[in-house]
Amino acid sequence: MSLWAEGVRCCAVLSFDLDADLFWKVWLNGKPSLLDRSQGEYGPRVGLPRILAMLARNDIEATFFVPGRIAERYPDAVRSIADAGHEIAHHGYDHEDFSKLSANEQREVLARGSQALEAVTGRAPRGARLIPGEDTAAIVHEAGYLYSSIMMDAETPYRYVIDGKASDLIELPTTFALNDSSCFAYSFGLAKPLLTPGIVEAMYLEEFEAEYEERGFCMFMLHPQLIGRPGRLRMLERVVTHMKSYGDVLFTTAEKVAERCRQVLPRDGA
Ligand SMILES: [Zn+2]
Repeated sequence: MSLWAEGVRCCAVLSFDLDADLFWKVWLNGKPSLLDRSQGEYGPRVGLPRILAMLARNDIEATFFVPGRIAERYPDAVRSIADAGHEIAHHGYDHEDFSKLSANEQREVLARGSQALEAVTGRAPRGARLIPGEDTAAIVHEAGYLYSSIMMDAETPYRYVIDGKASDLIELPTTFALNDSSCFAYSFGLAKPLLTPGIVEAMYLEEFEAEYEERGFCMFMLHPQLIGRPGRLRMLERVVTHMKSYGDVLFTTAEKVAERCRQVLPRDGA
């Protein structure tokens, strides 16, 4: 049985991590300069409105992973995402590395981040993208979440096996091949090149074409501070337009993909 509904050959999610300056905590080992933090601020201030306009133009509903602290700092920006009908999901409170937290600390951060999002949008998140430790999936499951989206061990969604049993927690796997930070993140001292939008466009299209052949799944993992630059967003819009031209590619939210997969993924196939 196909993972996707009748008439859908390939499913795609445009997901955006609205990290702002917290992004640079991860990339620079916790010590971003004012200049690096300013790269982050570009996300909610400039990149985000441009992305929301592009999504509206193309009639696409997307998912935004937002740290609780960013929702508190930019409530209007985060409300503008929810008001446009997009999903808002959990991305930690302070972009924590859950592998460095105890089980109880993870539970506390999960609750704190969720409360911060709900205070701004009126709705608790149902999915999470967290830097995971060994026990994080079980803790996210225990807290009643529908899905996680961070792992890179598969191409299509799967059920987490928890305590030896296929659970109701769905993973929507990611890849650096459909990510923008691997291509567009740059600062002084980072030993990696900036890629041109043309090179990245070719990579995204190759990935999509192959997933389309295989009736697969494309989880784009993007950052408003990177993909929100005008030249890069124009490239993403070309990719989206190409994908939509097939007529049987569904762009939807992570939540809706996970809902569908919870219905159709077999319990014993995990
Ligand atoms: Zn992030």
